[in-house]
Amino acid sequence: MILPGHSHHCGFSLTGVNGKPPPIHHHRIALTWLSKNNQVTSLRKSNISAATINSNTPTSTKLSILSDLQSGHPYTRLLYVTPETCALDSFRRTLRTIHSQHELSRIAIDEAHCISEWGHDFRPTFKELSFFKTAFPDVPMICLTATATRRVRDDIVATLGLDSKNLKLFSMTTSRPNLHYEVRFKSDEADHYDSFLRWLRGVHARRAAAPRSIELSAAGKRLSNVSGIIYTLYRRDCEALALRLSGDGIGAKPFHAGLSNAVRDDNLAGWVENRVGYDVIVATTAFGMGIDKDNVRFVVHWQIPKSFEGYYQEAGRAGRDGKASACIIYYGREDRDRAVGMMQREIEKHSGSGGNGGRAGRGSTTPPSPTMQGRADSLKALVMFCESTDRCRHKAIAQYFGETAEPACDFACDWHKDAEAVRRRKNEGLASEEWCSTQRESGEYAVDDYG
Ligand SMILES: [Zn+2]
Repeated sequence: MILPGHSHHCGFSLTGVNGKPPPIHHHRIALTWLSKNNQVTSLRKSNISAATINSNTPTSTKLSILSDLQSGHPYTRLLYVTPETCALDSFRRTLRTIHSQHELSRIAIDEAHCISEWGHDFRPTFKELSFFKTAFPDVPMICLTATATRRVRDDIVATLGLDSKNLKLFSMTTSRPNLHYEVRFKSDEADHYDSFLRWLRGVHARRAAAPRSIELSAAGKRLSNVSGIIYTLYRRDCEALALRLSGDGIGAKPFHAGLSNAVRDDNLAGWVENRVGYDVIVATTAFGMGIDKDNVRFVVHWQIPKSFEGYYQEAGRAGRDGKASACIIYYGREDRDRAVGMMQREIEKHSGSGGNGGRAGRGSTTPPSPTMQGRADSLKALVMFCESTDRCRHKAIAQYFGETAEPACDFACDWHKDAEAVRRRKNEGLASEEWCSTQRESGEYAVDDYG
């Protein structure tokens, strides 16, 4: 497996003999990069010899994995690695050795949308993965992504040099009928904390009432264990919100890159294990990748995230057990303007520096690179999603990803529940465009860095 170092991964699994999938418990190699990722642990528990090489792997472990690989007949059967590792000549030489022994059976690239410059999460090192098709044309490759539009899918195929005659494309519907999508409107004038707390306490109260409470107790479940994730763009919100919730009796922990590894690992483990005091994780957006937890009852976006794909992917971490779960996004026009402002600064930075597709120097007007244009389009689509009051949220998501089939929605969105109420709440809850434009001109709302 190839996994990028920040929030995404791609992967290869290396199997034994050409064309014949060998028993996975015998000879198999996997590579992974995320220390917070619990996949390798789960695989090992199932007696699969899985290993990881990433920036957190201790040198001694790394050396022993590499020495195993260099034998050409490695004991490791599934190896997770980053695209950065795959770009190293030394690592490529090792892969050639394994391949020459017919032991490289499969290459899997997870989060494959990172390959496309049109993807919301483009990472240049992913492009170099085209090496595999050139070096090992006979090894089957699988690319996986949960968020790719048609444009991105085509780009992945072209960039990796996949043969369209030998290609199978499997698309699943984006429809998740057990997720209840809701847009809640906010403005800088009012604190939306109370709106959220009221909602969560309502959920707790319903669990505490009979007959639900009796069922939950019989199943050994804690009444207050309503597991959820709150995504926020800003680190400072992350800590403050977790503290504030704890003060109101809700078990909440922060999760962001600025915390020590020990604290982060403990917060994550406590949440995964449904420990008391760890019911809600307040996280910056990198959180959740590769985490296998099925009872997430809600995902809340504290403000508009940076892309439609990001929103869909994060919201999709709710309700993996198929039970009803809530996906709530708090949308405000001031937040929209901050996100757009941030995007514009990124576009200027990229075109000004000549990096990432920009060509001209300072002062000249260069069209944004595909990456930046793709991101801007995606943010715009998400704003439209939040502002729209004329269609089902499930339908709007399906449309964004180019699906034509009508998704099922059994009152599982705010529009289907009461479209008129959505329009009323929007009128009452959002700052007017005039007010927003005044704020923009006065420059009162400076944007600090994400994360
Ligand atoms: Zn609906």
